[in-house]
Amino acid sequence: MRAYRLAAWVLLPILLILYGLQLREAQQNAGQRIGVTMVQRGAGLALTAVVPDSPAHSAGVRAGDLLIAIDGVAVPDEATYDEIAADFSRDRPLALSLTREGVPLALSVTPGVAVGWSVRILNGFALLLMLGIAFLTLQRLDDLRGRLLFALSIAFAFTLARPEGVASSGAWYHLNLAFAFFLIGVRMALMLHLALLIPGRPRWLQRQSWVVPGLYAFALGLGVGLGLAALATGVFGIGLPLQVTTLDALVHRLVLPLWGLLVIGVLGLAALRHPGSEGRIQAGVVLFGTLPLFVLTVVGAVRGDSIARPASGFEAMAALLLLLTFTAAIARQRPFNLELVVRRGLTYAIQTSALVLAYAGMMVVGGALLPRMMNVDERALGWYSSVATLLIGLLFLPVRHTVQNLIDRRIFPERQQRRERLAALIAELPALGDLNAMGQRLVAELRTIFASRFCVLLLTNPDSDTLMSTASAWDPRDLERPRSVPQLILPPNDAGLVLLRKAARPLPFKQVLRASRRTFGPRLQGMGASLMVPLVSREKLTGLLIFGAYEAGQSHAPEELEVLTFLAGNVAAMFENVRLFTSATYEGLTGQLRREAILSYLEKETQRALRHDRPLAVAVADLDHFKSINDRYGHLTGDAVLKDVAEALSGALRANDALGRYGGEEFLLVFPETDLQAAIMLADKLRLRVAGLRVPLEDGGTLQVRCSIGVSSLASLTAAEEDNAPRALIGKADEALYRAKENGRNRVEAHTGVEPPMIQSA
Ligand code: GH3
Ligand code: MG
Ligand code: MG
Repeated sequence: MRAYRLAAWVLLPILLILYGLQLREAQQNAGQRIGVTMVQRGAGLALTAVVPDSPAHSAGVRAGDLLIAIDGVAVPDEATYDEIAADFSRDRPLALSLTREGVPLALSVTPGVAVGWSVRILNGFALLLMLGIAFLTLQRLDDLRGRLLFALSIAFAFTLARPEGVASSGAWYHLNLAFAFFLIGVRMALMLHLALLIPGRPRWLQRQSWVVPGLYAFALGLGVGLGLAALATGVFGIGLPLQVTTLDALVHRLVLPLWGLLVIGVLGLAALRHPGSEGRIQAGVVLFGTLPLFVLTVVGAVRGDSIARPASGFEAMAALLLLLTFTAAIARQRPFNLELVVRRGLTYAIQTSALVLAYAGMMVVGGALLPRMMNVDERALGWYSSVATLLIGLLFLPVRHTVQNLIDRRIFPERQQRRERLAALIAELPALGDLNAMGQRLVAELRTIFASRFCVLLLTNPDSDTLMSTASAWDPRDLERPRSVPQLILPPNDAGLVLLRKAARPLPFKQVLRASRRTFGPRLQGMGASLMVPLVSREKLTGLLIFGAYEAGQSHAPEELEVLTFLAGNVAAMFENVRLFTSATYEGLTGQLRREAILSYLEKETQRALRHDRPLAVAVADLDHFKSINDRYGHLTGDAVLKDVAEALSGALRANDALGRYGGEEFLLVFPETDLQAAIMLADKLRLRVAGLRVPLEDGGTLQVRCSIGVSSLASLTAAEEDNAPRALIGKADEALYRAKENGRNRVEAHTGVEPPMIQSA
């Protein structure tokens, strides 16, 4: 890669010096020209054209004249003319001996035409921009296309800067010619290779590994071969079976247009067939950028251009456009959104044409028919045109809408699909009922719809106002995804959250991070978050969606943000309603039953059990040394642990078992149809599950917790205790729990005092 940088800095002055030489040469050359083109005929040179307002034209020379001699020296062929012309100058008139229709004629001409500075300046400008592109591509050297584009810009720059060598003769002229041939080969090879890699390397190219070496062999072989031929004849005077001019004509009339067609074809196929719309757009834009140069190549082929002809301003501009579109296609940070530009451009173009046509149609029809049919005067026609204008104005939006839809359906089917998928998602979410299921579906769908690396949903816990992660989805193919997504809990007064709530629209993660380095920084930075979408309902931040990007700094299209803003509004209200509905029963942090709810369940179940004489057991679980976890890792981490523990506990329960948050870090479990022995077994399973938890920490480490569990059962209550069975059951389970703590924690105890039959270890 350093070689490219070095090359750029070495080539920069070389190109500028070459261009300076070209300017000097052009100026000298212009001073020696009289403004005619000629072919050899008989003993003289037939003048095929005379440039208007040139010295020859002013002196009275006409196309069709035969030039015999200059200053008495015969000019039988072009080579002799060139030799003599090398001594022409602006301050010495020439005596031309001509014949016009067989009649001898003597005219005096002072050489010197305009240098054509405007084209030169234009070309110089293009040259500088090409160098700019070359330096820009130094940022993308990690990409093969970046390296190719660098080389292509340099090749074009050389084509523009190359002194034309027209006025000179001999070795220098032919060396220059050879170099020009070589540049043609280089440009051909690089252009086709680059076109093959837009928008990305196609799969067939990977299989057909001969294609790329083959195209280089052909194009470079052609360039080098022609260059050597030019050197052989021009510098070493070696006779070749085919003249260089014949080869030159072959290249310009046949090879270049066909090669151009190949490039256009490759890009066209990608623009039509590439599976992703972004890829198609990229190829389409590059195709568009390549067309002007292709058209000029075809024009040159028809006109019979040769290698000696200097680049015209048009060609410089066309080459520049081509390089610029390639640059846009391979840029990582898109300076503008290609898809949006193309979409808007197409929409406006079609809409405007449709409206202009409609207006013109109305005016023509109205202007022709109205006077004839109704005998109206000019003033009435004025009214008519105003009405037509108004009508067109009214049509503006509907037409735009129709055109936009048409374009979306035809050119961007993905966009349409995305909209439909989002609408379906919004429609189906409420049916899922509970917040966790809704959240999980939401993030899973959003992640795939927006092709993100991950999507995390945090919802506000109404009890504490903290934002807690509720659901997350990660690209399953992502090898670098963490084993478990950290439990994110964010404090409500965080500056970043305040910013998001006030903005009420998606913000780039970087912007939020700037506002709140303390919490967002450590908690989210390592994950590669790229976009944060606040869910705001009635000016309250009810939740937050976090999207992760595959590449750092990947930006989101404005269109995407627009859709997300709309979605966020919908989802926020929906989640808030479900939450209000369920918050009376479920507790905010763990999502488990509230104390009142689990107690009423216990009440109901004990009555049923007593009525039917069925077994029932109760367990109280308390985390061991939880205070020290809070003290060491902070309250938010403590909350995250509680959330994970609740999830672990509820995950092991059977259908009729119930789990509730009884106290701060105490859980009450109700096991209907379960006797004491079975309850002890179950409780021990739960204990082991909790001990097996690895709660992820922000620093990447994990945290382990233990719990102690006390168990009691209905069967061992006295008749008196049965009168207030729930209270007695909890009391006895509490006693057992106390004993479990006494006996060393991380264990299960039953209120009978019977030792549980299993080994106590985690
Ligand atoms: P042990 O039970 O093993 O005797 O020790 P412990 O440290 O767990 O003691 P105890 O059960 O009495 O501790 C209760 C602690 O739990 C006090 C409080 O800091 C913490 N706690 C209670 N509710 C919450 C909560 O909602 N979030 C957090 N983070 N901590 C809580
Ligand atoms: Mg405890
Ligand atoms: Mg406790």
